[in-house]
Amino acid sequence: MKINLLDLEISSKLKYQMMFFACAFIHTVFFLVFSFFKIYMLMAFNIFSITLYIVGAYACGTDNFEKHALKWIILIYVEITLHAIACTVHLGYETYFFLYAMVELSISAYMLYFACDKRIFARMILIFVCTSLLAFAGCQIYLSFMPPIFNWYFGRYLTDGMISLMRLMNISFCTVIVFVFSVLFVIEINLLIRKLNEAYDKLSYTAMHDSLTGLYNRHSLRDFFESLTESGNEYCVALGDIDNFKKVNDTYGHDCGDEVLVTVSDIIRESIAEQDLACRWGGEEILIIMRGARSDCLERMNGIRSRINASIVESGSTSISVTMTFGFADCHEVENSEKNHMDSIVILVDRRLYKGKNSGKNVIISGETDNA
Ligand code: GH3
Ligand code: MG
Ligand code: MG
Repeated sequence: MKINLLDLEISSKLKYQMMFFACAFIHTVFFLVFSFFKIYMLMAFNIFSITLYIVGAYACGTDNFEKHALKWIILIYVEITLHAIACTVHLGYETYFFLYAMVELSISAYMLYFACDKRIFARMILIFVCTSLLAFAGCQIYLSFMPPIFNWYFGRYLTDGMISLMRLMNISFCTVIVFVFSVLFVIEINLLIRKLNEAYDKLSYTAMHDSLTGLYNRHSLRDFFESLTESGNEYCVALGDIDNFKKVNDTYGHDCGDEVLVTVSDIIRESIAEQDLACRWGGEEILIIMRGARSDCLERMNGIRSRINASIVESGSTSISVTMTFGFADCHEVENSEKNHMDSIVILVDRRLYKGKNSGKNVIISGETDNA
C-alpha cells in the first residue's frame, strides 16, 4: 500500500502530544548538558520545563484539551522565552540559546492559527512578537553592561569548545524543529485544500441534482443542451410522466409515491448511456436527452418504457405496478438556429406527451401522426 505523506491526517491531539514529547526530550538534553557543566540554575529550570511538558502530554489525552489549547500555547511560549532569556544571560549570545525564542514565533503562529479565531490570532501574534523583541532587547542591554552570569557567579569562563558544542546543539535542534513544523504545516494546508475540494464537489453535486431521485435538476440542463447543440451531434429528447401517479399517492400515501418515483428514476438512469442525461423536469416528469439517431434512440426509449412497465414497486405489504407515457422528438424536428432551441423542443415533446395521455397512456408518441 502506497502512503502519501501529504495525505496524512494528523489529529490535533497527536500534534500536541508530539510537540510536548519533543520539548520534554530537548529539555532533557539541555538538563544533561547543564549538569555536565554543573550549571545548577539552568538544571533547575529544565527540571521545571520537563515536568511542564510531561503534564502537557498527559493533558492532551483529556477530552476538553482543545478548549484549553490556547492557554497551553501561551504557557509554552512563556516557558520557551524565559528559558531563552535565562540561558542567554547565563551563557551569553554565542551559545545561540536565544534562537529558540525566534523560531518559536513562527511555530506559535502555526499553532495559534489552528487553535483560535482570527481576531485572537492577530492579537496574540502581536503580543508574542513584541514580547520576544523586548526579551531580546533586555538580554542585549544586560549583556552590554554585565558579563554572563556563568562568568561572574561561578568565576569560570565557557571554553570555545563548550560554546561550539552548545551552538551546534541549538542550531541542530532549531533546524529540525523548523523543518518538522514546515512539513506539518504543508500537511495541514493540504488537508484543508482537500476538504475544501470535497465540500465544493458536494455543493456542485447538490446544485445540479435532485435530492429525491438523484437525477439532474432542471437548472443543470441548459448548459448540457447548449454544448450538445454546439457539438452538431444528433440527439433526441423524450419527456416522460408517470401514469396515474396521483392515485398512487392517494391510495398508498406520499412516501410510497416517492418510492415509485425513485424506482422509475433508477430504471431510467441505469438504462441511458453515460453521455446521455436524465433530469427531473418537475413533479413526476422526467426529461431524457439521448445522443444518437432517431431510430436508435426510439428503440432504446421503448426498452425503457417496457422496463418501467414490467417493474413492481414493493412498499410494505403492497406491490404497485407503474407505467409511464413519453413524448419523443429528434433534434431535426426543430430548427437548430432557433434562439430558444431547447424551449421549442421541450414544447414539442410536451405536446406529444399530452397526446399520449389522451390516447390510453403507457406509450411513446414520436410524431404528430402517432395514434397509439
Ligand atoms: P396522469 O396519468 O395524467 O399523469 O395522472 P397523474 O395522476 O399522474 O397526474 P397529476 O399531474 O394529476 O398528478 C401528479 C401528482 O404527482 C400530483 C403531485 O402531488 C404528485 N407529486 C409531484 N411530485 C411528487 C413527489 O416528489 N413525490 C410524490 N409522492 N408525489 C409527487
Ligand atoms: Mg402523471
Ligand atoms: Mg404530471
